[in-house]
Amino acid sequence: MRDHAPNSWENRADRFALYGFTDLPSVQSRGAVVVTHGEGPHVVDVHGRRYLDANSGLWNMVAGFDHPGLIAAAQAQYARFPGYHAFFGRIADRTVELSERLVEVSPFDRGRVFYTNSGSEANDTMVKILWFLGHLEGHPERRKILTRWGGYHGVTAVSASMTGKPYNALFGLPLPGFIHLTCPHHWRFAAAGESEEAFSTRLARELEATIIREGPDTVAGFFAEPVLGAGGAIPPPKGYFQAVAPVLKRYGIPLISDEVICGFGRTGEVWGCQSCGFMPDAIIASKNLTAGFFPMGAVILGPGLADRVQAAAEKVEEFPHGFTASGHPVGAAIALKAIDVVLNEGLIDNVRRLAPRFAAGLAALMDRHANIGEWRARGLMGALEAVRDRASKAPFEAGLSVSERIANSCIDHGLICRPLGQAIVLAPPFIMTDAQMDEMFDKLDAALARVFAEVA
Ligand SMILES: *Cc1c(COP(=O)(O)O)cnc(C)c1O
Repeated sequence: MRDHAPNSWENRADRFALYGFTDLPSVQSRGAVVVTHGEGPHVVDVHGRRYLDANSGLWNMVAGFDHPGLIAAAQAQYARFPGYHAFFGRIADRTVELSERLVEVSPFDRGRVFYTNSGSEANDTMVKILWFLGHLEGHPERRKILTRWGGYHGVTAVSASMTGKPYNALFGLPLPGFIHLTCPHHWRFAAAGESEEAFSTRLARELEATIIREGPDTVAGFFAEPVLGAGGAIPPPKGYFQAVAPVLKRYGIPLISDEVICGFGRTGEVWGCQSCGFMPDAIIASKNLTAGFFPMGAVILGPGLADRVQAAAEKVEEFPHGFTASGHPVGAAIALKAIDVVLNEGLIDNVRRLAPRFAAGLAALMDRHANIGEWRARGLMGALEAVRDRASKAPFEAGLSVSERIANSCIDHGLICRPLGQAIVLAPPFIMTDAQMDEMFDKLDAALARVFAEVA
């Protein structure tokens, strides 16, 4: 697959790109997949090979790679007004429209929206909002942030500190005051015989014990993805948010829903918090906010936090925060269209329609392969967990790089999917057809058979 000519795309990529989140042995032996464009749910590489992208790019290209309505919305806004900021009391009309629309489609009856260029910056911004509130409300010690192991909240110094992944130690992170609770993955972390409900109750007790240990007055907020995304597409155990939310309420700690993946339909509901049955105090959005057509993130504050931030800002006559491209009018125009495409042009309906077929396809692969220990799904996000032994849940030896091998074998079959720990994660675009979904599972089946035969 790799073109070995010195000036091939693969060699130029190796020479000039610093690959992020990339398994270097794989990319060095096989070469990067250098893509030129996409067609619906497929991408095409520099050699003209087509791949069905079972991850919607990086979760975000939910309307596919060439949606004409989104391209037209971008082109029209570029022609009309190609860029502006949102500082000093200036703001683009499209940005005002998007803010109004986001509050309207949010679970809140009113609120305020702040824009960033990414999900990481949106989480970073939310933390700064909580710190700002602490200072201006007379509780400057209220700074600690609670998240979970396996939670992914981004890569800036603050959002990486929130992310519960071991690689952050390579950067000397987390920063002080970022505390990680047990990952809510029942299959992996429940005690023998512990029900999902009992596991959830135990995790809520751990949360309360942590708040008391740290001092309730020092905790600024709790951030959670409704369904863990980059932790491995892990839906919460039954009763989790119903157990956790009252604890937070008791201590007056805001619950922030990081909906960068779940927001706008991924779980089959508009918001993951709706799918998981809880009401957050604020929502973090990005990725599919623009269906991946523009880098944009948003903090959507519910009424309580919106009022408090507004009051705090009025005390000092401004909220001193913002990015040059916050609320970019082209991003806003694209987001307005993306929300319309997902909610009103049948995409979320297709997620709901496909979800049972998606779950059934994952379950069938587990039936066919003894080395799958768990399948899990919510809406159109799901995963298969590879194991050496299903009964003991013993993983494959790390040196075998089983999930990387499966993903590489998928590439050979014309399918892009994502290795994550020992899991393979799938997040198909919302435009997928039944036939494309069947093709995805057939290709994955062939890759699993090949790799499990090699490592058995
Ligand atoms: C991707 C992601 C982020 C970070 O977004 P970036 O745009 O990559 O900075 C934050 N939270 C969640 C849940 C994500 O999946």
